[in-house]
Amino acid sequence: MKKNYKKALIEFSEQLGLTLDTQTATIFGVHNGYSVCLTPVNESYQFTLSVAVSYGEGMPDAKILKGAVSKSKTVRACTVQGYRANYSLRAGMTKKKTGENLQEALLAVTSYLHENALENCCQSCGALGATEVYNISGTAEILCENCFSKRCEEVAEKETQQNQKKENLIGGIVGALLGSILGAAAIVLLGQLGYVAALSGLILGVCTLKGYELLAGRLSKKGIVISIIIMLIMVYVGNRVDWSISAAQYFEDLDILTAFRLIPDLLKEGYLESGVYYGNLAMVYVFTLVGAVPTIISTLRAKRQANVSHKMSGDIEKRWPKDFQ
Ligand SMILES: [Zn+2]
Repeated sequence: MKKNYKKALIEFSEQLGLTLDTQTATIFGVHNGYSVCLTPVNESYQFTLSVAVSYGEGMPDAKILKGAVSKSKTVRACTVQGYRANYSLRAGMTKKKTGENLQEALLAVTSYLHENALENCCQSCGALGATEVYNISGTAEILCENCFSKRCEEVAEKETQQNQKKENLIGGIVGALLGSILGAAAIVLLGQLGYVAALSGLILGVCTLKGYELLAGRLSKKGIVISIIIMLIMVYVGNRVDWSISAAQYFEDLDILTAFRLIPDLLKEGYLESGVYYGNLAMVYVFTLVGAVPTIISTLRAKRQANVSHKMSGDIEKRWPKDFQ
């Protein structure tokens, strides 16, 4: 989350008398007697307002819930999933306007719910009464305490299953090799066409990791290390093959295989410019990194998020305002 955006979310939550959960970027709390959460769409000023309500201790009528759309200019649409209603809100042109819109929509929707005798409840079992907003594997859910325990067990069980799914190491290595060969081929092909090495580095980085994940079943830390080693080797090999082909084309009595073997000598004797050779190699390495790092980060982050489930709290971001000064 960008700093300025965080700051804006904190401002909104303060204006609304709600709390911001930094991990999920969700603004949550109790408004007008209802547990509410406001989830932004991809770090924008466009939010989804979610509530969980019951009518006469049963599921609410979706048509009635959708009726709230006409009560507010900000509310654009409504989708209903059981007890839970998600209202998509229009983004404001400015931060100030967005803050005002959120306030208006919150009041309009919750008042409408009151008028229609819709009562705050758990989104899962419909139990009336106190609910909290929980972070379940990265998503905000409005639950009673019982259902939260149940969801925790489900998440834990899923995690066990995932960990039991054995990583196929041999498959992973084969996959990484195949992926890296694809990348190395791109280095040679694009190199021969005279293109900059950037794109082929990206391809090699992504394909190696994806190849591992595909044939191993999952990408573990061990898999990441193995993939990186394969990348380091294959970038070197791909670059050397590319130069061997060029050398064989240039020196008539040289074939590609001999050129590949003789590259160090050609560099030493000055037949090939070592500055250009190593410069090119370094660039492919850099772009392989550029291709690989986002995949590695998102893999590790997805793993962290998947195993998280807890009550949302505002404790963490209370320390933030200092960071902004
Ligand atoms: Zn429940």
